[in-house]
Amino acid sequence: MKVTFKVFRFDPIKDEKHHYDTFVVETKLNERILDCLNKIRSKQDSSVSFRMGCSYGICGSDALTINGVPSLACQKLVKDYNYTSEIIIEPLKFYSVIKDLIVDLDPFFKRLEKLKTDEKRKPINKLEKRENIQSIEDLKQFEDAIKCILCGSCVAACPITLEVEPEFIGPAALLRAYRYIFDSRIKNINEKMLLLEKAHGIWSCKSHYKCTLVCPKQIKVTKTILKTKRKIREDLHPKT
Ligand code: SF4
Repeated sequence: MKVTFKVFRFDPIKDEKHHYDTFVVETKLNERILDCLNKIRSKQDSSVSFRMGCSYGICGSDALTINGVPSLACQKLVKDYNYTSEIIIEPLKFYSVIKDLIVDLDPFFKRLEKLKTDEKRKPINKLEKRENIQSIEDLKQFEDAIKCILCGSCVAACPITLEVEPEFIGPAALLRAYRYIFDSRIKNINEKMLLLEKAHGIWSCKSHYKCTLVCPKQIKVTKTILKTKRKIREDLHPKT
């Protein structure tokens, strides 16, 4: 079967503005969008640029906007879309384009850095002479958050970042903070919570749930942010 792809193109060296190129690809229903992009690059236009790494939903490097929704090209199949019409492939929104489908993820990683504190661990259990063992129940408190593969999709889907407050720290950084705040082995969590309250921090999140909808690891991102807000209120502002 033949499927048409409309692909965003932009080469900052020679283009003043972006355009779209159309490619017709011989494919199958169960082929991945990433496979189709590789066919375009190997058989039709070797200059089409996109990132890919593991190709199995683990590295997160092939996050793109597919038919308007941030998604991993390796996780999406042709049959997930209306393949009788064009499938539109664009770079992730919010980030600046380096070339074609490749974006500059620096703003994403800088946001993670902004919430970094010196996470101090609780002391080793002297009686048992071993590290603090964490119970399964305690691990479950933040287990979901450690599945994050840093693909950047949640930031590219967030209406606050895109339309209201570009400086907003964003869902991925808040998720990373949650991972430490709810880890029973970390003792200085107040430092982290105080950092979250700074300008463009956690209170800018208005729970649009878009991050949760697009997360390729099915992390309940908004739920973790709401849980963190509740903890900040209880621990830092008990009377409000
Ligand atoms: Fe990607 Fe989900 Fe992590 Fe956001 S929370 S960076 S969407 S894996």
